[in-house]
Amino acid sequence: MILEPSYGDENLYEATMARFDRAAQLLDIDRGLYKIIRYPMREVTVYLPVLMDNGQIEVFTGYRVQHSIARGPAKGGIRFAPDVNLDEVRALAAWMTMKCAVVNIPFGGAKGGVKCDPQHLSEKEQEKIIRRYTSELLEILGPEKDVPAPDMNTNEKHMAWIMDTYSMHARQTVTAVVTGKPASIGGSRGRREATGRGVMIMCQQAAKWLNFDLSKSRVVVQGFGNVGSVSAMLLDRLGCKIVGVSDIQGGIYSENGLNIDALFEHIKKHRFLKGFPGTKEVDNKGLLELPCDILIPAATEGQITAENASKIHARVIVEGANGPTSVDGEKILDERGVIVIPDILANAGGVTVSYFEWVQDRMGYFWREDVVNERLEDVLVPSFHEVVEYSTRFQVNLRTAAYMLGIQRVVDTIKTRGIYA
Ligand code: NAD
Repeated sequence: MILEPSYGDENLYEATMARFDRAAQLLDIDRGLYKIIRYPMREVTVYLPVLMDNGQIEVFTGYRVQHSIARGPAKGGIRFAPDVNLDEVRALAAWMTMKCAVVNIPFGGAKGGVKCDPQHLSEKEQEKIIRRYTSELLEILGPEKDVPAPDMNTNEKHMAWIMDTYSMHARQTVTAVVTGKPASIGGSRGRREATGRGVMIMCQQAAKWLNFDLSKSRVVVQGFGNVGSVSAMLLDRLGCKIVGVSDIQGGIYSENGLNIDALFEHIKKHRFLKGFPGTKEVDNKGLLELPCDILIPAATEGQITAENASKIHARVIVEGANGPTSVDGEKILDERGVIVIPDILANAGGVTVSYFEWVQDRMGYFWREDVVNERLEDVLVPSFHEVVEYSTRFQVNLRTAAYMLGIQRVVDTIKTRGIYA
């Protein structure tokens, strides 16, 4: 089977497809079947008029891409970001399909985004944007169709507004239309921490597999939002030394390890990490190059590239963020023997507990937090080993192995359903 050549690194979607192509070639699957998952199922662009606090009307652009519903309802977060674009959302939607397949939960893949700068929007304005976004997409959302969740710059408040808007139109409360909601309106215990907890589980599995003592490891975390801060907190509790962390304004570093509890207090008061006492300042570029054993990029895409991959000290990179490593960057890491636990496995804890939330909403019966955490581990640990097994069997890195496992599962489902006939 001959597929299109690699596209290089310029465009996130094309770079993602180049990785899909390579994995598909190694699997030697039917080219026609592969074509189905190479393209998104549906893409919608919406324009959202909003009356701003200053009395002016602004129109925001929003996207929703449903990549696949072969294995179940489309599933994926919604991000607010000034530079979000259709190609980025497309790539993220395709990753969601793979992610859900790798951890073997019954969802397809989707993603959404609204082009806006949340740093300059009031809470009321954000509420109006997400409510309008939900109204515009009403027909294609739903517990059996497409189930959004939080992503960059959106959180449980936004999810509550989505649930309420959808329910208003449905004339009944539909909790299962969205995950990552507050527990008081049908959210799952443990969902807020789930992605970071998954990152921690991956670190534990990697340490066992590579035979090093996790409790003696030095860790650097880029991004101190939902994923980064919880990863740092849980690894700190396991005895790791968190030596560096950052947010969008820059990073802080301490060779002796940061006091994570005090850091949370600092953020409550000052919003950003900057100025945390007893630490050295470092920019986001420098942060990635700090001496450490484990690096957790948990901010955004394209952070590890051909430019800095040779300067990274970490032995293991656990991708909390989606798409933090470029294709060229990864080649260099591979040559240097740096192990990368890829995003579609490393941050799959979030979507796994989102799945639990959806299940609980549909049952109307809610689980204890320790039950959620235990079931999360039950899903992630075998998934880690399945990816390692593919990697050994096909002699490929963990990312290609994860793509292969994901593509194989989606293609098998399509074949069994016969929906291509
Ligand atoms: P968040 O908005 O809660 O936090 C993002 C953090 O990264 C913040 O500290 C922000 O200041 C920082 N940041 C943003 N842009 C940056 C930049 N250019 N350089 C350095 N720091 C920057 O977002 P989140 O939910 O923690 O998501 C982070 C990443 O994890 C994203 O790639 C997201 O797609 C991915 N992810 C999130 C979840 C989830 O459940 N929240 C699940 C899977 C994957």
